[in-house]
Amino acid sequence: KSRFSGVVQGPPDPILNLGVMFRADPHPKKVNLGIGAYRNAELKPEILQCVRKAEEFIYKHPETYTKEYLPLEGYVPFLKEAQKLIFGPDHVALKEGRVCSIQELSGSGSLLISADFMHRLLGINKIYIPNPTWGNHGALIGKALCETEKYTYLGADGLYIDFEGMKKDFLAMPDGSVILLHACAHNPSGVDLNEEQWRELLPIFKKKQHLPYFDCAYQGFATGDLDKDAMAMRLFADEGIEFIICQSLSKNMGLYGERCGAIHIHTVDKETADRVASQVKRIVRATHSVSPCHGAYIASVVLGTPELFELFKEEVKKMAGRLLDMRKKIYDALSKTAPEKNWDHVIYQRGMFSFTGLDSHQVKMLADEYHIYMVSSGRMALTGLNDGNIQYVADSIKAEEV
Ligand code: PLP
Repeated sequence: KSRFSGVVQGPPDPILNLGVMFRADPHPKKVNLGIGAYRNAELKPEILQCVRKAEEFIYKHPETYTKEYLPLEGYVPFLKEAQKLIFGPDHVALKEGRVCSIQELSGSGSLLISADFMHRLLGINKIYIPNPTWGNHGALIGKALCETEKYTYLGADGLYIDFEGMKKDFLAMPDGSVILLHACAHNPSGVDLNEEQWRELLPIFKKKQHLPYFDCAYQGFATGDLDKDAMAMRLFADEGIEFIICQSLSKNMGLYGERCGAIHIHTVDKETADRVASQVKRIVRATHSVSPCHGAYIASVVLGTPELFELFKEEVKKMAGRLLDMRKKIYDALSKTAPEKNWDHVIYQRGMFSFTGLDSHQVKMLADEYHIYMVSSGRMALTGLNDGNIQYVADSIKAEEV
């Protein structure tokens, strides 16, 4: 008898399992619209040129880029560059040392460690998350012993923002609540606030002393411009509001498996930032000890070398451009093929995903009958589309709609 005989089989991860189902499907026309990672027009993963060049540089300089343990806060040159990417290079908060940054295992590790920090050091037991949100938020935050409660994000149609409902919820929460906000390119809906709406939130956060908790996983993917996509976080920084950012370089630098990211905590002064960092580092030490070095080396070289930074910006723009092109083409194809339904939401959304409005039954039928795989919420990853499969996808959606 095994010590583990009482361990029941766990369910597969709903998103990761889509890839397994897709690979197992022999149908020649199969389409994977479930993936949360960039694919080029040939639907293949790509290593960015700026990353390749940075790796060549790293291999030539083993005396600098060693395999030694990093310090607990991570690779400092990376952290400095990562801060600049979020705040802009000359931000006063950086000059004054008011931001403490700790390298983490990409966005997921940043969420886990920062939530754990808030639970242990700030006495936080609940974090508000948008409805809907990325499927793993609840699990990561739960692992840090915080519960989650949803706030209004989309309206009853499930396709457009309900800004009035959102503000109402923020005002009704207890003062000092922690509110998770997607910095840009909201996953899964693709629906973002505009600048005016972000500005309207500032006085609410100030009045209620809420703590903004930014998940920044898609910087560059909403507009193609890294600075523009940092707008919301910069508005809060300019206003002097304290906040936490969980930054991922998985998507915009294509460093998925390198687990490269950071927690940035914007505080009122350097003394506070240093104290906060000392406690976050203790949690890192007790969780997985130091972070991995290779991804941080790559990102520090890309972001810190002017020609590579330019190349990075171009490559981000190109990836975002392809996604936008696919968005326009699937919108056109759906509008032409299934005109009885309004598809405007598709063109209005931003980033890697589109909420199609299909329900879980329709999603299942698309997989069973047409070999098209997407998340049961109806979230379509635009990165799985290309000129060769768009019409097939539109025709199949039309067949399921009517
Ligand atoms: N946050 C959001 C909204 C995401 O969509 C993802 C990945 O899909 C992540 C965080 C975490 O990704 P990673 O841990 O690779 O940075």
